[in-house]
Amino acid sequence: MEKKTKKYYIETYGCQMNKYDSELVAGILGKQGFEEANSLDDSDLILVNTCSVRQHAENRVLGRLDAFQQLKQKNPDLKIGVLGCMAIRLQDQLLRQKSVVNFVLGPDNYRSLPDVLAKLSNGERQSRFSLAEFNNHEIYSELYPNRATGFSAWVAIMRGCNNFCSYCIVPYLRGRERSRPAKEIVAEIEKLVDEGFLEVTLLGQNVNSYHDENHDFADLIAMVAELPGIERIRFATSHPKDLSLKLIDAMADHPKVCNHLHLPVQSGSDNILRLMNRNYTRSHYLKLIDAARSRINNPGLYTDIIVGFPGETEQDFQDTVDLVQRVEFDGAFVFKYSPREGTAAYQYKENLTEQEKVARLQYLNQIQDAITLKRNRELVGQTQKILVEGRSRKAKPNQYMGRTDSNKIVVFNSDNNYKGLLKEVQIIAAEGRTLFGEISQGVR
Ligand code: SF4
Repeated sequence: MEKKTKKYYIETYGCQMNKYDSELVAGILGKQGFEEANSLDDSDLILVNTCSVRQHAENRVLGRLDAFQQLKQKNPDLKIGVLGCMAIRLQDQLLRQKSVVNFVLGPDNYRSLPDVLAKLSNGERQSRFSLAEFNNHEIYSELYPNRATGFSAWVAIMRGCNNFCSYCIVPYLRGRERSRPAKEIVAEIEKLVDEGFLEVTLLGQNVNSYHDENHDFADLIAMVAELPGIERIRFATSHPKDLSLKLIDAMADHPKVCNHLHLPVQSGSDNILRLMNRNYTRSHYLKLIDAARSRINNPGLYTDIIVGFPGETEQDFQDTVDLVQRVEFDGAFVFKYSPREGTAAYQYKENLTEQEKVARLQYLNQIQDAITLKRNRELVGQTQKILVEGRSRKAKPNQYMGRTDSNKIVVFNSDNNYKGLLKEVQIIAAEGRTLFGEISQGVR
């Protein structure tokens, strides 16, 4: 009888690094002869790649695991594994309280996945495993991710973080910072070009502290920009204390490096930045923004902000509002402070009610939305090159979306599916956070 191919399904929560890791795990499973399932019902193995940055993200996963009970009743041979940050933070609790979970694997332990699966299928069917240990040398050399799209790829250039921002759990779950050799990264991107990829996003918790012998991040960006075949280079995430003028110059000098800078400020108040252990001041941040605007052609500037951090007074909040109005970001991701046990800030006394935090979040979002609209309207009438990603999420028939160099979403109508191609569009309108365009001319 023909042996049935095993199928896997991966659900991913959280940041781009998690999405990359899921593709890495898909690559490991592909080597083991697994195929990707079309749906949860169709799978022999479900993996949930988790995020612990906010309580809300963890709650969603815990609820999801409960919902998987039904699938396990229908298929008792189904295996369920938890990956990512929750695997480290809650490994014992997950095995104790969630009977659907067969195994837990931490972010540095994905190489062990084949061994864990072999044990589970070799008569240890009822066994449950947990392997969530730090390995501060693990950079997953020689493993090649199975990427979701054929045109835009995430490439991890480093793992871990040494910064210990006082609110952030990541350094406790992802271990210390380590960089991949530049030669290895360049070789991976050359392979991606051969496979038809046009865009890469270089990933790390703090890409600005990348280093490989004498090469820093600006050198790496320049090396990647020299590679024939790559059309667009993005990176995430940057830290204002480490972002160098040399990197801003590299962005300005290499047209393939997108004019898209995501630089999390977190607060506009020096008092709060100090409490957050961010190691820069408001004025340093504003100088970086000035440098980016003066050297890069109309950069798309994005940020992250936390409101309601413990000790945030009305004046501190107004300092953040003022910074947002001064910079006029193209977009801002505003979050309410979420206390994480084990971080330094968990000990700080909170001074705001949930309602007050929500009010600050809504107020700041309103201000930013008006600025985003104003910045987007400035593009109406211009021609922009977009990389078409596919159907628009809330698609009408024949409606597609793509991204500009500066990372703005453009929705357009087309009879052709240009997914994965660079196209020029004329911007005809701006609504909310979205631009609308008309295809003007193919460039590839
Ligand atoms: S830089 Fe700060 S916010 Fe970012 S992962 Fe590291 S500790 Fe967390």
